Amino acid sequence: MTDVSADYPADAPASQALFDRASIVTPGGVNSPVRAFRAVGGTPRFMVRGEGPYLFDADGRRYVDLVCSWGPMILGHRHPAVVEAVTAAAANGYSFGTPTEGEVALAEEIVARVAPVEQVRLVSSGTEATMSAIRLARGFTGRAKIVKFAGCYHGHVDSLLVAAGSGVATLALPDTPGVTGAAAADTIVLPYNDVEALQQTFAAEGGSIAAVITEAAAGNMGVVPPTREFEAALRDLTRLNGALLISDEVMTGFRVSKAGWQGLSESGPEPDLFTFGKVMGGGFPAAAFGGRSDVMAYLAPAGPVYQAGTLSGNPVATAAGLATLRNLTDDVYGHLLAQAGKLAYAVRDALNAEGVPHTIQFAGSMFSVFFTEQTTVSNYEQARQQDLPAFSGFFHSMLSQGVYLPPSAFEAWFLSAAHDDAVLEQVVAALPAAAKEAARMSQ
Ligand SMILES: *Cc1c(COP(=O)(O)O)cnc(C)c1O
Repeated sequence: MTDVSADYPADAPASQALFDRASIVTPGGVNSPVRAFRAVGGTPRFMVRGEGPYLFDADGRRYVDLVCSWGPMILGHRHPAVVEAVTAAAANGYSFGTPTEGEVALAEEIVARVAPVEQVRLVSSGTEATMSAIRLARGFTGRAKIVKFAGCYHGHVDSLLVAAGSGVATLALPDTPGVTGAAAADTIVLPYNDVEALQQTFAAEGGSIAAVITEAAAGNMGVVPPTREFEAALRDLTRLNGALLISDEVMTGFRVSKAGWQGLSESGPEPDLFTFGKVMGGGFPAAAFGGRSDVMAYLAPAGPVYQAGTLSGNPVATAAGLATLRNLTDDVYGHLLAQAGKLAYAVRDALNAEGVPHTIQFAGSMFSVFFTEQTTVSNYEQARQQDLPAFSGFFHSMLSQGVYLPPSAFEAWFLSAAHDDAVLEQVVAALPAAAKEAARMSQ
């Protein structure tokens, strides 16, 4: 990795002081690697407040937020309906260790939105959702092997941290120490969008594959939508071979449409299991996995596969999630799509004006910008061929002009209902200088 820190001295004394303190008591100074600025250089900004489309840092600077907590803040920060729901829930107590009505309502909302989902189990993070879905698939099929795709991120589950996206891609880490050979041995990694590789794998070991897990549309290597042929092959080959198809919609779920990616590909595959997180928690720790009721019936206490959680279905988190989902109307989804288009085309124009090679890819209203000469990016190997110094230059110029982008060339950009035209204008105004900086840094 090129060390670009020297090019971007921290001009944020309060954040710097907090980061120095954090670095003493927390590894790398952050509680999730994607928050670090290692790939772009400089000091992570410590935020103190969010309001609609804006974040405010410890130095009193305001940013247009294009990360939105990596997806959950789809209504914008401190949406009044969510604040009200959370406040009301907390006033009644915030954890009982018993069932509560909010859990039922949130499960009903998910089941109503995503047709193939008949039952859900609530958990507290996307990682827990995928970990549990994998265990359930293994328990249901009595098989061990899992197929995943390079560049897809499914949380930090041991067996799924092989060739992973998100922070693992950002930091260009080889596979993670601490994951034993045994944990990884039953994971088969294939290239995303590669129908032939999938066919060959099922031909060779179809009888021992419990499940294929895939990001419904990849967002953790940058945005890479699945081809129609790939989606069809996923469904046909799993079904033919008695394996389950797990669609990881932790990022796309309830973001790209009312029913997530599933809602955009109505004629596409009906996965057996889904995983959800991010948006469905509205900024609180709530996630879920769900799907076919005959498969879900294998979960304890209905069935033999154990899965549990002290804070699963936490009343404050479920209230936030439910209020968020109920305010995600067709109008909001239309708005997100329109704003994503406007912003992406403005980015394209600005980069073109400076001759910076790039490709912008969409999955519904989710998009990302690849700093590359390639005209399409369809897998991780291609996603990795980026001009990372150009991205760093772009990122820091935007940051210094008050726009907070993901500090990684491998992440989607996120918008919210609060990103109106006036807010986008502030982003667009910052683009020409950022494109110049990208051109200057380009290698
Ligand atoms: C974010 C993400 C996860 C992990 O969710 P956490 O809540 O961070 O554990 C899993 N899968 C996908 C597709 C994600 O984007």
